[in-house]
Amino acid sequence: MCGIIGYIGKQNAIPILINGLKSLEYRGYDSAGIAFFRDSRIEVRRCAGKVRELESSIGRENLQSILGIGHTRWATHGRPSEENAHPHRAGGVVVVHNGIIENYMELKKGLKKEGHVFTSDTDTEVLCHLIDKYSQKGLGLENATREALKHVKGAYALGIIREDEPDKIVAVRKDSPLIVGLGDGEFFIASDIPAFLSYTRDVMILDNVEMAVITHNGVSIYDLNGNPLDKKITNITWSPAMAEKGGYRHFMLKEIYEQPRAIMDTIRGRFSLEDGEVNIEEFSMTMDELREIDKIFLVACGTSWHAALVGKYMLEDIARVSSEVDIASEFRYRNPIIPKGSLVVVITQSGETADTIAVQREVKRCGAKVLSICNVVGSTSARDADSVFYTHSGPEIGVASTKAFTTQLVAKSFFR
Ligand code: GLU
Repeated sequence: MCGIIGYIGKQNAIPILINGLKSLEYRGYDSAGIAFFRDSRIEVRRCAGKVRELESSIGRENLQSILGIGHTRWATHGRPSEENAHPHRAGGVVVVHNGIIENYMELKKGLKKEGHVFTSDTDTEVLCHLIDKYSQKGLGLENATREALKHVKGAYALGIIREDEPDKIVAVRKDSPLIVGLGDGEFFIASDIPAFLSYTRDVMILDNVEMAVITHNGVSIYDLNGNPLDKKITNITWSPAMAEKGGYRHFMLKEIYEQPRAIMDTIRGRFSLEDGEVNIEEFSMTMDELREIDKIFLVACGTSWHAALVGKYMLEDIARVSSEVDIASEFRYRNPIIPKGSLVVVITQSGETADTIAVQREVKRCGAKVLSICNVVGSTSARDADSVFYTHSGPEIGVASTKAFTTQLVAKSFFR
């Protein structure tokens, strides 16, 4: 969902990684980090907050390296913090990841039983442990990654390095974009073109379930069975401003076209097509608690309020629970009657809408339960609510809401 950069070449990788992360900043993110080889060891530096903070913390060290990977994170699992920031590490394996691993809980349970010790709350960390597990069985990095990915369900773009293979980056993707940049004796990986546009315009665009193995000698592309593939080189003619918008005229247009992907990410891992089972990990209300609800208030501001209007139709039509919609700024002042057994559903993209948060605090004092539908993991609304449903639509730059709105509607369809 957020940003990946990687570099292997003759120049110092550190400023290239930092500049790459800075050029991905427009996408929005909550933390950042890099990993790089120094004296045959991999070192990791990460922090919650801005790339600028990461830069100033490592700036004093005068680091030199010719190979590294970096990441800006938009949290989906685990709050924004230094421990949850990427890159993640297990043994000698270090990983940056964009996307969502649907079956991470099950994998984590199994890996813990086998003695793996986890240090973050992310879904990503299972990937390093799995790759580490197969690395310990003697497989090279690309084969260990292939074996690991056989067990993984979900969306990923990955940059992977391993301490005993200091001249290699493995990059692989499924349902999350990843590209390889080809310079003069130097190579890049990135989730987005702007990350390396100032160094090269020649790129290979990885298709789903393709893997790039990148060394100082060049780039080889394989499928996940290890069969080599031919890949054409595309020359990017976009200006940096066009590249930021993925070739679209406006961010809003780009986000409109992102809706199918955003909706997939809202549903991902929460609904099984096989048995119709619904599993919303961060939703903490029990079935019995849900059954006791006989009144629902949907409270929001702006576009989220429009999503609430649609939500009322869905809830009354299908769940047959009486529902009211309110604008947050008015709800507080109209002295509403909130019967016992009410559920207040607050909807806020950012999770920081002041009027909406004020409502949720006030209704909790009246004994109502609060469900927050929001897009930002660890936001105030999510922390203050009894239960939360994250829409996972990724950062939205357009001021007029598009994919955030659509995914709010999808979120509500889970509560029918
Ligand atoms: N799911 C991962 C996490 O929460 C990756 C998020 C991203 O794509 O930035 O750390």
